[in-house]
Amino acid sequence: MPWNRPLILGLLIALLALTWWRLQPQADEVRRSQFMMGTVVEILAQGEDPSALDEAVTAAFAEMARLDRLLSSHRQESDISRLSLSETGLTVATETAEVIALGLQVARRSAGAFDLTLGRLKTLWALDSDSPQVPSLAAITATLDDLGPEALMLSGRMVRKANPALQVDLGGIAKGYAVDRGIAVLKEHGVTAAAINAGGDMYLLGQRLERPWRIGIQHPRQPNAVLVTVQVSDRAVVTSGDYERFFEQNGKRYHHLFDPKSGFPAQGCRSVTIVAESVALADALATAVFVLGPLSGLEMLKGYSGAEGMIVAADGRLYASDGWAAYQVEP
Ligand code: ADP
Ligand code: MG
Repeated sequence: MPWNRPLILGLLIALLALTWWRLQPQADEVRRSQFMMGTVVEILAQGEDPSALDEAVTAAFAEMARLDRLLSSHRQESDISRLSLSETGLTVATETAEVIALGLQVARRSAGAFDLTLGRLKTLWALDSDSPQVPSLAAITATLDDLGPEALMLSGRMVRKANPALQVDLGGIAKGYAVDRGIAVLKEHGVTAAAINAGGDMYLLGQRLERPWRIGIQHPRQPNAVLVTVQVSDRAVVTSGDYERFFEQNGKRYHHLFDPKSGFPAQGCRSVTIVAESVALADALATAVFVLGPLSGLEMLKGYSGAEGMIVAADGRLYASDGWAAYQVEP
């Protein structure tokens, strides 16, 4: 049979195209979620080897679960539960000490608006119970005795309580810290593009399909609407809002971000979004700025050069820090 030149050429081109396609890195994506730390945690990782990605994601989840076991107030064996039960304090794990150190720093810089010692107040409000109610003023004031950043002292891994009744609550920072550690584990496994979202505490690693990640920030009063879109790479994006956990009584909203001065939910904001280098810091700052309110909140943010923020105030007005514009894009 005579060789058909166009056919051979065609086959050759097809073969070359196939080889080229095989040699091109095929961006695979692994997306998994797990319920932990009281929320759904989602990991999305990209790379060329699906089984390596899967292994990395499994290890990241395991690391976050380990931190939850150390830092949760709901687990009897955690450092935090042991600390709350102890009379004067105890020695904690390195990770716990690291979270407390950062929390105490934000507490000082926010003049006590961020407060790791609100455990008893949080228990009293019982927002997670079936029928939460506004506690009595007397009960609220009683939980506020002997609170504040000075009531908790850290030196090395040793934590001291100023009084035995003091209950530590890392709810405003621990999730962020766990996400940071999850990202670190993904990196250790060679992952260069990933996102972790723990109920609004996010980190965006590298780029998605060779472009920075685009994140829609939820509108605090329209559940399915995006308020603004930000574009980031290697950054934490954290939002704290009064719409996440709340109940209503006599037409008034009571949410989970407490002003340590009054013992009531803070009144100045509807939501605060922080972009920063670590999720732990962004998490703590989002809570701190929320409690401080727009003006004092923005003032405090100036002290953190790597952090920018956007605030929806209680009246719906928008505020943003000077460097925020660098992140916001048209959707
Ligand atoms: P979430 O993403 O779980 O809503 P946030 O970062 O918004 O978390 O923080 C809310 C949690 O922070 C509360 O459930 C409580 O545990 C804790 N918290 C509430 N008020 C304060 C405060 N003033 N300072 C520090 N932590 C707080
Ligand atoms: Mg927070």
